[in-house]
Formats: sequence, structure tokens, C-alpha cells
Amino acid sequence: MSYEAHKIRLIMDLRRQGITDNRVLSALERVPRELFVPEAMRSEAYENMPLPISQGQTISQPFIVAYMTQALRLGGRERVLEIGTGSGYQAAVLAQLCRRVCTIERYRTLLAQAEGCFESLKLHNITTRLGDGGKGWPELAPFARIIVTAAALVMPATLADQLDEGGIMVVPVGPSGNQTLIKVTRQGDNFIEETLLDVRFVPLVEGLPPGRA
Ligand code: SAH
Repeated sequence: MSYEAHKIRLIMDLRRQGITDNRVLSALERVPRELFVPEAMRSEAYENMPLPISQGQTISQPFIVAYMTQALRLGGRERVLEIGTGSGYQAAVLAQLCRRVCTIERYRTLLAQAEGCFESLKLHNITTRLGDGGKGWPELAPFARIIVTAAALVMPATLADQLDEGGIMVVPVGPSGNQTLIKVTRQGDNFIEETLLDVRFVPLVEGLPPGRA
């Protein structure tokens, strides 16, 4: 089967799994996931599974990417902060649906690869930063939306504080093996939390890795 045929099957699968937002589905249809996975795994790019990328990290399962994107309820004009660029796939999907994506990664090597993908797809509305995303991006805050693609042990208050009024954050919270995806909505000084589903993410790690990785 061609990438196209696999892709159509995946989109139908996502629809069956409850992804009803057509804008989200067409964003996933437009972004070539095969560019973001290791070359040796390209044939599996449209399987509904997470895949390993370098530095022991993973590109999330398409269902999770679609689900988190749908939960953000993007209207098209937002500035979105992403923590954990990884392969860059989630950022590329978001870039189809909002005005600007600001994404932070702690591995230099992963960030450089993701930047190469953004460049080749001419995604000029993604701004990248090497750093500890747990601190957010105070110089650019507040953000209309925040998406965290690594699991925090406890609800990251520093990030919630960088949400704009009425803003939404989706974040996996909990220790390895017991994580839930949480949606936080800011209303003034109140942060309303909703539990969405059980998930498996790599951990959110503090600081930068040693060396030049
Ligand atoms: N959104 C990514 C998922 C990558 S996995 C994708 O679409 O491929 C999570 C990523 O979060 C990893 O690359 C990991 O290095 C990164 N990460 C973990 N802790 C981080 C932190 N404190 N700051 C920035 N990135 C972090």
C-alpha cells in the first residue's frame, strides 16, 4: 500500500476513535508523518502507534496527537506554546491550525532535525527554542494555548501561569505507568481541571542534557 492509502486508513481509524473535528483530521492529512520518523520506519509512518525517535524519545501516536489537538479547540488566530518538540510532528500539525507555534526542546539534536523538517515543509509560523520547557517561555507569555508532550509529575503551575485569560492547556500528569491527560482552563485566577484519558508519555525532565546532545 502507498503512503496515501495508509493515510486514508489512518484518518478513518481516527474518526472511529472519536476524532470528530474535520479541521484536525485534515491537518493530520496534510502533514507528511513519514518525514518525522526515522528513515528505517517510514513504512510504519501511518500506523496508529507511537514510534521511537533518537535520544530514547518517541513521536506520539497519531490518535494522541489528534486528540490533544482537538482538545485545544483552536480557532486559527492563537499563539500556542508546545513543550517537547521531539520529532516536530505535533508542532507541524498545530501550525496548520493556529497563527504561531512556539516550541521548546531540551535536546539540541532533536531540535535541529525538527527545524530541518519545518524548513522543508515551509512551515514559517513555528518558532523554536532550546531549553527547559518546564520554565515555559516567559518573554512570549501569555499564550492562548499550551500543549505539553512529556509527562509532568505534578500539574506544572509555572506553565499554567503563562496561560492567557480563557486559555487552555493540555498536559499529561503523573508518574510513569500512571499518567492522565489533564485539560486546564484559566478563568481569572482559577484553573479549572478536567481529566481526559489515561496516557503514556516520556517524562518531562528538568534542565538540559549533559554534553552537546
Ligand atoms: N511532540 C513530540 C513528542 C516528543 S516526546 C512529537 O511530536 O514528536 C517528548 C519530548 O519532550 C522529547 O523530545 C523530550 O526530549 C522533550 N522534553 C522532555 N522534557 C523536556 C523539557 N523539560 N523541556 C523541553 N523538552 C522536554
